[in-house]
Amino acid sequence: MKRIFPLIILLVTLSLVGIIVIQVSWFRSMLLVKEEQLADRIVKAMGITGEELMAQKGTLPSLKNKRTRPNLTWPSDQLMMELMKPSTISEKFTTFEVQEKLRKNFNAHGLKDTPFEFVITSDAGFLAYDELRSRGFDGVVEDTVRNRSYVYLFQVPGGSNLEGLVPEEAMVVVVPNIKHIVFRELRWMLGGAILFTLILLAAFYVTVSALLRQKKMSEIKNDFINNMTHEFKTPLATISLAVDALRTEKVAADREKMQYFTGIIKEENKRMNKQVETILQAALMDRQEIQLNKRPVHVHAIIEQVLENFDLQLQSREAHADVQLNAKDDEIMADEVHFTNLINNLVDNAVKYSRDNLHLKICTSSNNRGVQIKIEDNGIGMTKESVKRIFEKFYRVHTGNLHNVKGFGLGLSYVKTIVDAHHGKIRVESTLGKGTSFTIDMPYAK
Ligand code: ADP
Repeated sequence: MKRIFPLIILLVTLSLVGIIVIQVSWFRSMLLVKEEQLADRIVKAMGITGEELMAQKGTLPSLKNKRTRPNLTWPSDQLMMELMKPSTISEKFTTFEVQEKLRKNFNAHGLKDTPFEFVITSDAGFLAYDELRSRGFDGVVEDTVRNRSYVYLFQVPGGSNLEGLVPEEAMVVVVPNIKHIVFRELRWMLGGAILFTLILLAAFYVTVSALLRQKKMSEIKNDFINNMTHEFKTPLATISLAVDALRTEKVAADREKMQYFTGIIKEENKRMNKQVETILQAALMDRQEIQLNKRPVHVHAIIEQVLENFDLQLQSREAHADVQLNAKDDEIMADEVHFTNLINNLVDNAVKYSRDNLHLKICTSSNNRGVQIKIEDNGIGMTKESVKRIFEKFYRVHTGNLHNVKGFGLGLSYVKTIVDAHHGKIRVESTLGKGTSFTIDMPYAK
């Protein structure tokens, strides 16, 4: 199982990378093919337009330019010459007409949204000059990187007697931003490929993180079970020893000794009860079954009551408790039992994770929003990484031999749940080796 997991990740990562690489190269060749197809259609549309232009007669009378010439004599040799000469495309058609024809044939070849500019040039000897030129042509003809130009030669039918008499003409069509057009045609495929790859990546991520979470969970559960077994074994062993002692004649006769041993049993029993209680709290939290029974509660009274319970423990460790209950209005709406547990857990931790010379400081203050409670110790403290995780269920700081205090790592996750349920806030500040302080803001009822 341990080796299968990295293997799966490796294989899936490999195939994902492979799929992406293949898709990219496939898409690239697709672009080339599409561009060729596009060029093919453009050339076809130009060919048909060219044939139409050659065959049809324009709407304008020929010699349109010459009519205005004032020095023409009518009829003259010059004019006769002009009339006999087969007219060029520009003499037969206007720019607009050529444009219309091209558009029509472009549309017929599935190039409906493809923009184009064109020019019709004639090659009179060594000098090429434009006859017809669409308005945007100059703007696009320079940029040969992004735009493509296609040439069509108007050919006078071979063998006809016009051959050689007419200036050779050519039609140049420039399609601007060809890559963009090709991309646009492929956009659904590209979008689909990206979308599905992303979905695949997301699914992979979710699966891996779920697997990792599961793995962590199972480790945590194992830890928890070990921990719990240990926690219950100690009191059970103590109780068993105490019972054995009680059974002996000597103890049975001695009332004081009997009381001592029954006291131990009671004490251990209480401890186990407390542990069961903690686990039950955690189980309740899991099913989100915490039902708050909110009533007006005096924060100061609860703090004093909790401290009373710790009195013996604090005395035996020669701890110093500094209590400053400064909040002017200490009445909040809270569930008394849960709130008491909350304060209890924090004080318990302060005592548990301390060294000799414990200095516990509890102070309260209030503002118009609520009561602030600060519980501070000068104990072992925590690293920043630990502080980030202490509210997680089952999380315990592994500090090696620094402290061997037992616990389930449930206390603080319970604290956090209860604070949240009361719409309060909790903050932790801690320095390793120096101490820890928990600050809780409990809002007044609105
Ligand atoms: P538990 O005390 O049962 O281990 P908690 O949820 O109460 O579980 O605490 C989680 C961890 O946070 C503890 O294991 C401990 O390492 C650390 N911790 C809690 N309170 C303090 C404190 N006051 N000082 C130092 N470390 C603390």
